[in-house]
Amino acid sequence: MAVIAIDGPAGAGKSTVAKLVAEASGLPYLDTGAMYRCVALQTMRDSVEPSDQLQVGTIAENVIISVDGSRSLLNGEDVSDLIRSSEVAAIVSLIAAHTPVRTAMRHQQQRWIESHGGGVVEGRDIGTVVFPDASVKIFLTASPEERAVRRVGQSGGDVVTVAANIEQRDRIDSERTDSPLRPASDAIIVDSTGLDISQVVSIIVGHYESTKR
Ligand code: C5P
Repeated sequence: MAVIAIDGPAGAGKSTVAKLVAEASGLPYLDTGAMYRCVALQTMRDSVEPSDQLQVGTIAENVIISVDGSRSLLNGEDVSDLIRSSEVAAIVSLIAAHTPVRTAMRHQQQRWIESHGGGVVEGRDIGTVVFPDASVKIFLTASPEERAVRRVGQSGGDVVTVAANIEQRDRIDSERTDSPLRPASDAIIVDSTGLDISQVVSIIVGHYESTKR
């Protein structure tokens, strides 16, 4: 089963790149961050404290999440735009640090890939924990300045605030004990600073093609 794992910090361009790699390789695309964002949205709706591991874990085990391309359904409702709000972004790393949440999401991601027969999977722990036997593992990064500028270009805001939000999210993601953000020992590090998207996509597709030879 072909799996291309694309991990990396916030704003590195993972979503854009992963979608294009999926098109080029003919594999389906899975955005695992959208799953964590759905749990964060449900946590807000239920007025549960993001730090409450037990209650947030129960939410993660009971919500019905369906992620397909850029579309995300939460209990049957299309929440694709809602999960991109700054309120969700502010708490998603807190809820994603809880082991019961990670266990529930990891199982869903593994089932998704099994049922689709492989895929291009982007996230934070795909190459390290979710698919340790992935065909290709990419750790996509870029300078903090460039990541902030790209995020502002996509979603607006001012660079200083966006840079601070990204930095805070990356810190929580890197410091958590369960599957922290870090490159797998066999990951290929791709620093996209100064590269355009097509260059990054062809580097990754090139690595994938070489695994088939
Ligand atoms: O990729 P995205 O920015 O949508 O991810 C949102 C958050 O979800 C991340 O900051 C991280 O806290 C969490 N996440 C994770 N593991 C993944 C994917 C996302 O912990 N595989």
